[in-house]
Amino acid sequence: MTTEISSLDPRILARGREFFASISGESPSVFNKGWWTGKVMDWAMKNEDFKVQMFRFVDVLPYLNTSESLSRHIEEYFAGEDSNIPDVLKWGATKTKIGGGLVAKVLNKTIRSNIESMARQFIIGQQAKEAVKGIRKLRKDGFAFVLDLLGEATVSEVESAAYRDGYLEVLDAIQKEYAKWAPLGGDKGELDWGHAPKINVAVKPSAFYSQSKPVDIDGTVEGMMANIEPVFRKVMDMGGFLCIDMEQLKYKDCTVELYKRLRTKYPDYPHLGIVFQAYLRSVDDDVRGFLAWAREVNLPVSIRLVKGAYWDYETVLAKQNGWPVPVWTHKPESDMAYERVAKMIMENHDICHFACASHNIRTISAVMEMAGEMGVPDDKYEFQVLYGMAEPVRKGLKNVAKRVRLYCPYGDLLPGMAYLVRRLLENTANESFLKQTFADEADMDRLLENPEATLRRQLEGKCVAPEPEEGLQRFDNHPMVDFTVEAERLAFPGALEKVRATLGRKVPLFIDGQDVETDDVIDSYNPAKLEEVIGTVCQAGVTEVDRAVEAASAAYLSWRDVSPQERAETLLRAAQYLKDNIHEYSVLQTLEVGKQWDQAHADVCEAIDFMEYYAREMIRLGEPRRMGHAPGEMSHLFYQGKGVAAVIAPWNFPLAISVGMVSAAIVCGCPVVYKPSGISSCVGRGLVDMWKAAGLPDGVFNYCPGRGSVMGDHLVDHPDVAVIAFTGSMEVGLRIQERAAVVQPGQQHCKRVIAEMGGKNAVIIDDDADLDEAVLGVLYAAFGFQGQKCSACSRVVVLDAIYDRFVERLTEAAESIKLGPAENPANYMGPVADKGAQENVLRYVKIAEQEGTVLVKREVSDDLKATGCYVPLTIVGDITREHRIAQEEVFGPVLSVMRAKDMDEALDIANSTRFALTGAIYSRSPANLERAYREFRVGNLYLNKHSVGALVERHAFGGFKMSGVGSKSGGPDYLIQFLDPRLVSENTMRRGFAPIEEGDDWFV
Ligand SMILES: Cc1cc2nc3c(=O)[nH]c(=O)nc-3n(C[C@H](O)[C@H](O)[C@H](O)COP(=O)(O)OP(=O)(O)OC[C@H]3O[C@@H](n4cnc5c(N)ncnc54)[C@H](O)[C@@H]3O)c2cc1C
Repeated sequence: MTTEISSLDPRILARGREFFASISGESPSVFNKGWWTGKVMDWAMKNEDFKVQMFRFVDVLPYLNTSESLSRHIEEYFAGEDSNIPDVLKWGATKTKIGGGLVAKVLNKTIRSNIESMARQFIIGQQAKEAVKGIRKLRKDGFAFVLDLLGEATVSEVESAAYRDGYLEVLDAIQKEYAKWAPLGGDKGELDWGHAPKINVAVKPSAFYSQSKPVDIDGTVEGMMANIEPVFRKVMDMGGFLCIDMEQLKYKDCTVELYKRLRTKYPDYPHLGIVFQAYLRSVDDDVRGFLAWAREVNLPVSIRLVKGAYWDYETVLAKQNGWPVPVWTHKPESDMAYERVAKMIMENHDICHFACASHNIRTISAVMEMAGEMGVPDDKYEFQVLYGMAEPVRKGLKNVAKRVRLYCPYGDLLPGMAYLVRRLLENTANESFLKQTFADEADMDRLLENPEATLRRQLEGKCVAPEPEEGLQRFDNHPMVDFTVEAERLAFPGALEKVRATLGRKVPLFIDGQDVETDDVIDSYNPAKLEEVIGTVCQAGVTEVDRAVEAASAAYLSWRDVSPQERAETLLRAAQYLKDNIHEYSVLQTLEVGKQWDQAHADVCEAIDFMEYYAREMIRLGEPRRMGHAPGEMSHLFYQGKGVAAVIAPWNFPLAISVGMVSAAIVCGCPVVYKPSGISSCVGRGLVDMWKAAGLPDGVFNYCPGRGSVMGDHLVDHPDVAVIAFTGSMEVGLRIQERAAVVQPGQQHCKRVIAEMGGKNAVIIDDDADLDEAVLGVLYAAFGFQGQKCSACSRVVVLDAIYDRFVERLTEAAESIKLGPAENPANYMGPVADKGAQENVLRYVKIAEQEGTVLVKREVSDDLKATGCYVPLTIVGDITREHRIAQEEVFGPVLSVMRAKDMDEALDIANSTRFALTGAIYSRSPANLERAYREFRVGNLYLNKHSVGALVERHAFGGFKMSGVGSKSGGPDYLIQFLDPRLVSENTMRRGFAPIEEGDDWFV
């Protein structure tokens, strides 16, 4: 236990008890069961299913503009068998279902207005005028305010500007009357309590710049500055205080940097604050570093310390991405960190003002006692609570500390719902101090206990997680890059420089363990910088293909019989090699095919995943399986590799798909002749180094880039090739299947073709979709990596009722993203892969222009155009299913927008092409999601998430119809395609005697 804090504990306890006594019998209005909100909260806390449904319903409510959609959603969310649903809701829902009519209408109206008034409880006003009126009243009651404009997700610069203007508007409204406000604390003069500005506003920094991203701190901060500065200047004019809130971890570094820039740009204006979150494991270092900076620049600063509002989000995100969880995972750890860091801040009170923002009486009491002990002057700290949350706490605080500020959100209910849901979750969380105090009526001494003691007690009851067992661990996806980590941000420019120094060399073939040079060469170039040659790649002709197949055939005889375990271990060593060189392998893709940093990194992760996954799969399949139970007979099923595999890979996932197909073949015992795409042959050569490092025997992997027209058919037709694994266009895929069906002289087997081909992927936007997510999801799926993923969205099918709103936001968002070379992480979209791709896309842009109405056509600057293979980002409306642009695969950043009158028509349109690869739907209607599950017939369907970025195992990938033949890559059936099953059955009975084996059908 920290000695200084623990020695204060008796005083903290005494103060806490006093605090409790002063508010005895009072309860926050959210828990008041005499009101609708209190009743609903009560049910939510008792019934997890209802809580989820209720909060999801609250979230979708602002989108339900017609009584039909309101009724439908009430029914879908609440009219179940569950007897725990509160009568008020259940009654409304069942009535709606049975009869509809007037009764239902009245009930629906009641439910809507109840939820709206619940929202209003946390929101001081929807209009500026209303907010000012609310503030006036609060001040009359003796509370200061900090005003926060709702609207956290901005997807375009238009929306960021609106967010800025919202602040200017409310400040204007305040300006008209704040001079009349008497200062709080009875002091004369302009300041509350003699030192604090009367006006105080809080802002969400990411909302000021729609393109905020952690990988681009400089660009993000510049973008934020452009919109926050006018607000700050206005605040300064009015002598107010501006606090920059802290949002999700991904914005933390940008936010700190934004504060520093603003603070140093206006060094004479001290009323600028920032927030730190005690739930972050990094909080001690964050605050220590920040205070050191303040001393270094010698400028007074102000910190609001909170525990943090995004605990669930941060934990789920980290778990999904394989990152270390950045927040404490035991609640008392956050409480301990809070007290520790509060102490650190107050020790620096000469340079730092402190706002203690908590509703937790233990936390507040600890802060009060520490402040007293350290002699922190009154003007150096204050207390803050959320409007509408903890009335007894604020009252108690006002009695003791005097200086209490209420955090007052204002604005439309629509963006306000996200805020409301967060508050509802917070209030109903088991760990919440408010819930424990006022709803659970937990023991007061337990609530006031030192959190270190609470932690010890909590841990005592828990068993320690067992040490992981020896051997191969469960498969988990390799972690995605986390650009909140500075080392990751710095690794990419470093790797770019290193790899760039190696460019322009001759790239030989690799056959039977030897480099082989040819006279025929092709330069592979950087599509963003045509004069930059990545490598001069030797091209295999027919002779080299024959040599490679011969080497592979020879290697087959021994590699086939290497144990599955040993073959798997080779893959694991190769995976380790990629992990060790992940940044170099990533940036080579940025240079050779124009992949953005994060996506190039994801490509290498996927390659690693394929090998880690297939290694485990081969171990599973490699174990001979006993068939049947008959005594006296032992039958085993097992597999052997089919033979030589020709792997023909695309350029869009130049490493991942190559490694996926190649490693699957190799782990199955099938040596490979690998033909990478001409566009990405240098990335393809990376497989040679990888297999060498893994110790793969000569001849098992042969690298043979070549011109399709010269050696493609020859490879496919070769009689000694047993398997052809192909990923690419439908035309080439069909041609391969046709040719592979023809038996060549000397051929000893039927060829197996595994072909992943095209897609014309649709995303459906339901009329209740969360547009903050849908717009960004469609944008990313359509234009990430320039729309050149097989899974990319190329059609967005929008329900009539939401069409205008969606299209407006989508087009504004598309106008806001940055275009330019992928090397610069600020850019969202870069050049397409090469000149051929450029020509093809331009042709389709023309077709799109002829067939529909161009909504967005964004080009890069002429300078960039002259240096690289750029095409316009194109969104075209008024497209119907008959149009070519709605049917043919473009493989570039061209998105068709299609209108559907209802879900029937939307599904019909989505299913109306000959492809069936990926699809997505954004909807908050449980019934429509369920329907899409059944009727949106594609290989990979995503509900409320974008359609790209499939992960090995979790999203085993592949389509049907004209999108491909074969089982899903990265899935449990994939390896079987490279294997021939064999069965051996032995009669174990000799002279009437049979040994009885385990598993035999025998008597007990
Ligand atoms: C005036 C004001 C301004 C605010 N501004 C911000 C802001 O800018 N950014 C922001 O993120 N939040 C902000 N908040 C919200 C604040 O983070 C939460 O409301 C607050 O954390 C609730 O904490 P508490 O001390 O009141 O309650 P408590 O009940 O003591 O603490 C609850 C908190 O503990 C943490 N927690 C919950 N479960 C666990 C667990 N299993 N392991 C570890 N920790 C856990 C979470 O942070 C949770 O919110 C603000 C709050 C106020 C009052």
